[in-house]
Amino acid sequence: MTIAAINPATGETIQVYEELPPDAASRIVAQTHEAFLAWRQTSFAERSALMKKAAEVLRARAKDLARLTAMEMGKPVSAGEAELKKCALACDFYADNAERFLARESVQTESSKSFVAFNPLGVILAVMPWNFPFWQAFRFAGPGLMAGNAAVLKHASNVPGCALAIEEIFRDAGFPENLFRTLLVGSGQVEALIENPLIRAVTLTGSGPAGRQVAAKAGAMLKKTVLELGGSDAYLILHDADLELAAAESAKGRLVNSGQSCIAAKRFIVVASVRERYEALLVSKMKAAQMGDPLNEATQLGPLARQDLRDQLHRQVEASIVTGARLLLGGEIPEGNGAYYPPTVLTDVQPGMPAYEEELFGPVASVITVKDEAEAIATANDSSFGLGGGVFTRDVARGEAIAAELIESGSVFVNHTVASDPRLPFGGVKESGYGRELSHFGIREFVNIKAVSIA
Ligand code: NDP
Repeated sequence: MTIAAINPATGETIQVYEELPPDAASRIVAQTHEAFLAWRQTSFAERSALMKKAAEVLRARAKDLARLTAMEMGKPVSAGEAELKKCALACDFYADNAERFLARESVQTESSKSFVAFNPLGVILAVMPWNFPFWQAFRFAGPGLMAGNAAVLKHASNVPGCALAIEEIFRDAGFPENLFRTLLVGSGQVEALIENPLIRAVTLTGSGPAGRQVAAKAGAMLKKTVLELGGSDAYLILHDADLELAAAESAKGRLVNSGQSCIAAKRFIVVASVRERYEALLVSKMKAAQMGDPLNEATQLGPLARQDLRDQLHRQVEASIVTGARLLLGGEIPEGNGAYYPPTVLTDVQPGMPAYEEELFGPVASVITVKDEAEAIATANDSSFGLGGGVFTRDVARGEAIAAELIESGSVFVNHTVASDPRLPFGGVKESGYGRELSHFGIREFVNIKAVSIA
């Protein structure tokens, strides 16, 4: 079996790798476990120094790795460089804060001394997607390694070069041999990895079907999982919204990573009284995005990561139109090579349409019109997903109340685009998954929260 990196801008095969056979993968897991046994004894100071070094390596290689990302999954280089720098930021954040996040907590009981300690679990399996090939891996690995765990990465099959580059970053930063290993394996080997007794827990970012399968296997093996799955985030555009701002942030949120982000805004729920003006502004902002060669610094929108993903998106758009959605922009596959899809705006989107019910993983905005705020909130929550969301209103106190209390999702941003931030927890509810990454919540997912009591 082989794993091929294919340039989605040209369709050309960049490189073909041999898939690691199962016995070789389990040998690596055993070596990673050995590395863990020593690593768990190290101090936070030692771990921090290495994590800071990883941040330096990331910054030094940002340009080269952005090019590699562009070649393997089509992300424009300017966005790729920003992603690499964000990984460095997360490494620094956990280098600076892990000790505090995992400090023993004393608890008053009838004993002479009681406290909570946070011990590492062992080797964690990370199953990661291609959309932010570095960020997805680092936002797990930064806290994971700082907590004293080791890790093996099964990355998406279309980004093998990025997967190997991540392993190399940790090695070159001076982390112990085998503490972090990349396994070039297909998804068919994941079940066997979960069965391996040395794998103690699993984190997966990706689609619902992949999440369900991994969680089912991990459940059967009684291993903890954190799942960060898809989303269909709703932005609420209320009657008193600053429409220029709302449209600009909507387009920005929808076009992030050429629309291939779990927290990209997908459904735009607008109150009828402001619909016309908002739609016109949204179309003009979406239209302005420059689509082209991802290796060009000025490109904002690259090709989608794979041809099959582009074709799937187009099917969702067409099926929505057939069932009554109206096309305001885009919606046609451009001539020529590459998995390109243009900025697209659909309106009159209704329940039952793919644009309402499903995740559209590309630059397609779905506008849904409602009569008032109450219906906007109900519509936002009328989704099987619950990852992020936005509220646009000049009444900031009202926006805050809606965000904090009324939207069923893992994050809600008022008057700006949803984005992940190492200081804030990240994750979802409903079919968007469970568990949290980032912040102090993220680092506590893969630890043994141990109660200690002394008579
Ligand atoms: P997948 O969920 O298939 O891939 C994500 C990761 O899971 C990859 O490493 C993949 O490996 C692995 N995987 C897939 N199936 C299984 C399985 N049965 N058991 C174990 N591991 C598995 O995403 P796709 O690339 O196919 O994208 C499809 C859709 O998923 C997108 O259109 C989007 O809606 C959603 N998605 C969401 C993401 C997010 O950030 N939440 C990220 C990526 C996709 P391999 O590549 O070898 O198959």
